[in-house]
Amino acid sequence: MNTTPTATLARGDGIGPEITDAVLEILDAAGADIQFDEIQIGESQFLAGHKSGISPDTWPTIRKNPIFLKAPITTPLGGGYKSLNVTIRKTLNLFANVRPSKSYSPFVPCAFPEMNLVIVRENEEDLYAGIEHQQTEEVTQVLKLITRPGCERIVRYAFEYARAHGRERVTCMTKNNIMKHTDGLFSQVFQEIAQEYPDLGSDHQIIDIGSARLAASPQDFDVIVTLNLYGDILSDIASQISGSVGLAGSANVGEHVSMFEAVHGSAPDIAGEDIANPSGLLAGAVQMLAHLGQLEVAERIENAWLSTLEQGIHTADVFDASRSAERVGTKGFAKAVSERMGERPGTLAPASYEGAKLDVSSVAHAPRKNDKVLEGVDVFLDWSDGDRAPNDLGSGLVAAGDAWKLKMITNRGVKVWPNGMPETFCTDHWRCRFLPSSGEVTNADIVDLLGRLGAAGFDVIKTENLYRFGDRRGYSLGQGE
Ligand code: NAD
Repeated sequence: MNTTPTATLARGDGIGPEITDAVLEILDAAGADIQFDEIQIGESQFLAGHKSGISPDTWPTIRKNPIFLKAPITTPLGGGYKSLNVTIRKTLNLFANVRPSKSYSPFVPCAFPEMNLVIVRENEEDLYAGIEHQQTEEVTQVLKLITRPGCERIVRYAFEYARAHGRERVTCMTKNNIMKHTDGLFSQVFQEIAQEYPDLGSDHQIIDIGSARLAASPQDFDVIVTLNLYGDILSDIASQISGSVGLAGSANVGEHVSMFEAVHGSAPDIAGEDIANPSGLLAGAVQMLAHLGQLEVAERIENAWLSTLEQGIHTADVFDASRSAERVGTKGFAKAVSERMGERPGTLAPASYEGAKLDVSSVAHAPRKNDKVLEGVDVFLDWSDGDRAPNDLGSGLVAAGDAWKLKMITNRGVKVWPNGMPETFCTDHWRCRFLPSSGEVTNADIVDLLGRLGAAGFDVIKTENLYRFGDRRGYSLGQGE
């Protein structure tokens, strides 16, 4: 029986095909046990009218194979095309983006020679859900959705990854001092799960000071786990200061399918010239082999690659006459790495993937019971009557609310009624918190309140129910409440 794993392969656009050839040659020379199912995605598919760069009949191949090696693709400008990467990530539930950032100093210049960290970024939630609205003339919003299952899965993955890869510490970065419910949930879950990994160090840093420290002393970090947007920004900072953006690979890990790629794009400016550096895609392929459990092959390739780099055999992007020995093209580089299989670097730390196979199914989340109680409702209004005086709005709402008690009104989160400050700037977007005067409240009571407000001439633009979960309030207080 053929037990060789099958990976989906996309050769991509621009320099994609030539760096793919180089990587396949190196995998072959290393004895990687893998076969490929090739698909067409990217520019040709965008231009054929598929808005996400992929045709519907390609999905079964991607879904069938647990591994996907993807060369960079070109997104044509204009035309309302959607990001293929985001589409693949979300469709296939690729919840973790794993980006190692490492210094190869002195062979690639880097101000932080000791830097060697991995960013584990939540890949599906946060502000990237793309749920945005304009609600009034003056106000727009985006919904930041953070889920407990999402947090549990990514945080557990970060700890499992750290353990499997012989790392010592996991640092969580959030803004939980401001976003107590969303970022607060992420950091809370981090604290809970950290208890299960006493063999690993753990700490939490506020994202602003944490990213400043990352930029100033990246060597102090090991594994960082964070939310989608922060992770996006942090991983670019880390890649940039490592001096080797062009050499970095990235993994998008899911329970059923995982996708591996280079961090860089399709570089159409140098396509077809045999000068592109295949190292980024090769780094993605090495992550792929480790993920498949072919740890010795992963190690052999990375060590041959490190030896090539150390011996000064460099593609144009890394070549510097003062420290390089030989300038090679894409094909020449692939040949040089292939010829060095079995060699280990002399100066740079050799790669070690011992024990690095990671069981993604073990990072699933625990189901929770639902114990929520409805306590009231925040009604959002578009209102700009007269001088926009909060007291005028308050008295109008108190009159219309009937059995409901108006608890407060905020504008951009700041309490402006009752007892607001005249200095507070008010837009046309008001959040009005209603609580029942007595007894329990139901959704039907909220519908009744909305009808009453509509009849009194108020323009309701949305509502948010206020829930208590056990002994925990599930909503924030207004600033100044
Ligand atoms: P890019 O990363 O393709 O190129 C930026 C610069 O780096 C260029 O000067 C390029 O020549 C150089 N470069 C990139 N990779 C190189 C390599 N391997 N060897 C040597 N030099 C290299 O970024 P861009 O120009 O902003 O984007 C070009 C296209 O790639 C766009 O269509 C973009 O949408 C796409 N893109 C795709 C991905 C992906 O598929 N994952 C990621 C980023 C950008």
